[in-house]
Amino acid sequence: MNVLVVNCGSSSLKFQLINYDNRDVLAKGICERIGLDGSFTYQPKGGEKETLEAAMPTHVEAIQFVLNALVNEKTGVIKDLSEVDAIGHRVLHGGMKITQPVIIDDEVIKVIEDCADLGPLHNPANLMGINACMKLMPGVPNVAVFDTAFHQTMPPKAYMYGIPREYYEKYGIRKYGFHGTSHKYVSKRTAEFLGKDIKDLKIIVCHLGNGASLSAVKDGKCLDTSMGLTPLEGLIMGTRSGDIDPAVVEYLCNKEHLTPSEVLNILNKKSGMLGMTGISSDHRDICEAMEEGNQAAIDCMDAYYYRIIKYIGSYIAAMGGVDVITFTAGIGENGNALRKALCEAFSFMGLVFDDEANQVNKQEIIITKPESKIIACVIPTNEEIAICEETVELVTASKQA
Ligand code: ADP
Repeated sequence: MNVLVVNCGSSSLKFQLINYDNRDVLAKGICERIGLDGSFTYQPKGGEKETLEAAMPTHVEAIQFVLNALVNEKTGVIKDLSEVDAIGHRVLHGGMKITQPVIIDDEVIKVIEDCADLGPLHNPANLMGINACMKLMPGVPNVAVFDTAFHQTMPPKAYMYGIPREYYEKYGIRKYGFHGTSHKYVSKRTAEFLGKDIKDLKIIVCHLGNGASLSAVKDGKCLDTSMGLTPLEGLIMGTRSGDIDPAVVEYLCNKEHLTPSEVLNILNKKSGMLGMTGISSDHRDICEAMEEGNQAAIDCMDAYYYRIIKYIGSYIAAMGGVDVITFTAGIGENGNALRKALCEAFSFMGLVFDDEANQVNKQEIIITKPESKIIACVIPTNEEIAICEETVELVTASKQA
């Protein structure tokens, strides 16, 4: 069964065609600058990556480029579009109504539209991708896999903010959490990798990429997560501030003569590692600067680690203990020094770190010694494969029903 996995931004469209049976990525690529001059990058399995300038006024033309490339005589990986059995879409915000992946119908489209207030940059773009696929491939099932869905098991004590209840009731203002597809996939893989039943485990998943979030997963269900109403809450990230005192917004508006939207833009796009160092949003650049003794980089990394340690500590308390701490995404999978520093912060709880095992990167590995009271491990995330698996599961079940 072949699944086209689609991840749309307002001016971009990332895709992978995956053969579910052997999890083979047959082709992948990205359409960028949709609505502007447009460019299309495509790479078939085992083939060269090619980029061409290509005008694509809307997501419909972008999807058309993808489909043409997939069946193209030279670069194609399938003979006919009938070999695409289903399409899996990454969708940002499903609000309170969506708790799992769903086959897209009019009702689901309405939910995505209704949640556009909560995900103004992403939900409308996700819908454009969905509409384009429905138009160009009628009859092929489309599945929406929501970033917020896995976190819908959080209890009210974890998701309620300390603000007047009427705002929750009127506008749905609460914690939702994001990266849910990754947290679900990685927590499930953690249990499988350790040969344990997920129902017996308390897991803390540290998804540390450009965007970063932690989740506390107990009995296979999300109990808490660090992102909030939007992805801005929680950890210090590449360009996002994470937690700050909300009063900073008004203060900055007054001092710098900015609007709240402009301050929010700074908090989302010009803060985090980028803003704190003025160097880069990329963890590797900050590490390099640290080694050269750059004080801003040293302060930034100290704060970055400290925030994660505080969140891990709070999740241990919230779950009444922890069995496994799992690291994933770009920094979690590659940052040996970071994993060492974070794990050693919990040596007081009997975590015994394994320096040698920690030298290996980007693969499933345990980085604590056998006598350790808490297991720490690395599980590379793969959101596309996760979306492909969720899509096939759902489409197969709906065919059997
Ligand atoms: P996203 O998908 O959120 O854009 P990724 O999961 O790809 O982000 O993670 C990107 C981050 O991973 C960057 O900050 C990058 O510096 C970091 N990263 C990638 N490779 C390494 C490495 N070898 N060592 C340390 N950090 C790395």
